[in-house]
Order: sequence, then C-alpha cells, then structure tokens
Amino acid sequence: MKMIIPPREGRAVRVSKGQTIRITTLKGAQAADFFAFNAENLGEWLSANHTWVTTFNVKPREGDTFISRFRRPMVKFLHDGAGGVHDMMIAACDQFRYEHFGHKGPHASCSENLCVAMRREGYQIDVIPQPVNFFTNTTVETDGSFKSPPNPVKPGAFVELEALIDLICVVSSCPFDLKAEGWTINAGGGPTELEVAVT
Ligand SMILES: [Zn+2]
Repeated sequence: MKMIIPPREGRAVRVSKGQTIRITTLKGAQAADFFAFNAENLGEWLSANHTWVTTFNVKPREGDTFISRFRRPMVKFLHDGAGGVHDMMIAACDQFRYEHFGHKGPHASCSENLCVAMRREGYQIDVIPQPVNFFTNTTVETDGSFKSPPNPVKPGAFVELEALIDLICVVSSCPFDLKAEGWTINAGGGPTELEVAVT
C-alpha cells in the first residue's frame, strides 16, 4: 500500500506486526509528525519521552526501538535515510501554538490532523501524544539551550520502521508555515506532501 499525504494533512494507516512503514519527504525538508497506537488498545501509544530514556539519546537513531508509555516495544527504526535529522522534543503543533505566534483564525495543525485521521478510523482521541518528528532539525546545546536551525533534509529522504505489534499509525505533514524567529520547521516554500508506503 502506498499513499500520498497532501501538504498540511494527516492520515492514519494500519500496520500489522512484522510489516514496515516507510515515510518519505518527496520534496525534502518536510517535517513528518509520527504517532503510533496499539491497534488493540488505543490507550497505549508510542511515547517519545519514554523512548529516549532507554536509548540514551534525544534523537531517534537507526536500530532504536520506540516504546510505548507502558514501556513495551512498539516500533523498530530499521533504516534512516535522512541523516539523523529528527526530533523527539517538540510537542505536536496545535491551534494555540499558531495563535502564540500571532496567527489570527483557524490554522491546520498536527494535533488536529491526528484527531481527524483517527476519527476517520472511528476513534475519538483525547490526548495528543508526544510525536516523533521525523525530518525535523533541532539541536540541544551543552548549556541546555534548544535550537531549530534551517531544515537540511534532501528530497527523497526517508525513514523505514517495523511494527513490533499491530499498530494504527498516523503521519502528519506539519502545516507549520509561519515566519517565527528561531523556528524554521519546514522548507521556506511552505509545507509539502509526504509519501507513506506499507509493505
Ligand atoms: Zn506540526
């Protein structure tokens, strides 16, 4: 199964145990917020915060296992075709974040994309988990300061993940498009599509 996630939108996809999901930024530099839920129990979701305690790194790296908030293995990071440019620190963007930067009126967000994608599957989500933000460039300096330099991810960069249990995964093409000082999340030309393939 292969699908295109349009710019600023999100989609849910079922990934059975043993299957792989490949996420590609076709035009490059497009942040892909990734969420995963246990298909048998939506109360168990992939937790970035719980994961980096076990991997000893705030970046997801090839070979890492992402765990759930119940600390069970959910997803294996099989292949990193994006040179390690990923983030597990930034909360999913939401309406409030855009208003914080001065945006007036409704704005698409990864939080909303997650809720809509799960509703299309028949589920109401009440909590927005900390996503894994693939193709998102952040750094933590030795003094603890946190930066988001311009996104260097090349067109065609991808990540490949293996489901360790039956999953519902949601991928969001982050709609961040504001000119916010210090936050260059996506490419300058605005959000672009993502390709998702499950095999
Ligand atoms: Zn976002």
